[in-house]
Amino acid sequence: MVPDAPPSNLRLKLDGDALAHNWRTLDAMSGQAQTGAAVKADAYGTGVNFAVPVLHGEGCRHFFVAHWGEAAGVMAHVPAEQVYVLHGPTSAAEADYARQAGTMPVINSVPQAKLWAGAGGGPCALMLDSGMNRLGIAAADVSDPVIASLDVRVFMSHLASADENGTQSADQREIYERTLGHFPGAVHSLANSAGIALGPDYNYGLTRPGLSLYGGIARPEHAGKIRQVVHPQAQVLQVRHIAAGERVGYNGEFTASTAMTVATVCIGYADGFLRSWAGAGYLHHAGKRLQLLGKVSMDMVVVDISSAPGITAGDWLDVPYHLPTASRVTGLSQYELLTLLGNRFDRHSA
Ligand SMILES: *Cc1c(COP(=O)(O)O)cnc(C)c1O
Repeated sequence: MVPDAPPSNLRLKLDGDALAHNWRTLDAMSGQAQTGAAVKADAYGTGVNFAVPVLHGEGCRHFFVAHWGEAAGVMAHVPAEQVYVLHGPTSAAEADYARQAGTMPVINSVPQAKLWAGAGGGPCALMLDSGMNRLGIAAADVSDPVIASLDVRVFMSHLASADENGTQSADQREIYERTLGHFPGAVHSLANSAGIALGPDYNYGLTRPGLSLYGGIARPEHAGKIRQVVHPQAQVLQVRHIAAGERVGYNGEFTASTAMTVATVCIGYADGFLRSWAGAGYLHHAGKRLQLLGKVSMDMVVVDISSAPGITAGDWLDVPYHLPTASRVTGLSQYELLTLLGNRFDRHSA
């Protein structure tokens, strides 16, 4: 028999209190509306098994995933009718699966509505394309007989630019408003994380935050209210002393100008710590900033520990993952930073 693997040298500390706090904060900002949760992409990389029980415990009753394959992981924690699949049925097999499992398909087109009806139909959600041109029925389709015959429980649209101050959100809201009357019995839903900060006009009956649940700051209105949820840490594999003129890492991109002490740390781009961290990036140890040296490897990075010579192999270093800051340092979006986090981390909720 293969023995149990020893603990990973990479860990992701997940702050369940921060997640709960963020959901309550967004719920308070949502006013009278109910507050759901986007839990697609394994709850934005945090893990459905971590996030969904916390969110359900706080009172969340609407969970959104993208793919059919993501539904079962959420249904392990909440009733099937609270799980919405955003891509909708793309085949008869998927429509049958939704019927059998009892999950809520999000219908995005007239052909999808026909597939759903063909499989026997039943309660569903309906997505309106209000100008993003990605998924959803056109405003003109709301009176299509197949659409009109659906049992729509949630009628939604999605904002493209709520994180900016342009006019697109207001334009989308206007298109959404014009179609609402066709679905009087449905819960109405427009706002994502950023949309919640646009004010009560955008809340309707249900909001659908994702990013901000997991610590993302989508708009200045969230700053100071949303707490960080993910805290990656990696262990030091080796410490070495290098002389002036020695080079570090692939392609020798860093050359030491003086003698220095460096540590090799077991996190790399395969863990989602992409090469875009090199240059301005750093790791942390007990409040000290440790500059990254040279390129990020697949499984390792090297940092300068000259200012913290007490560091030894086996010590844990913190990866600074405050999302707005990490986004500025790397040029990656806060969404990418979360969903990149790989599966070599031991995920610990604390
Ligand atoms: C991902 C998604 C959300 C959540 O968006 P955030 O910007 O992460 O808050 C809400 N609604 C739909 C349709 C989505 O695809």
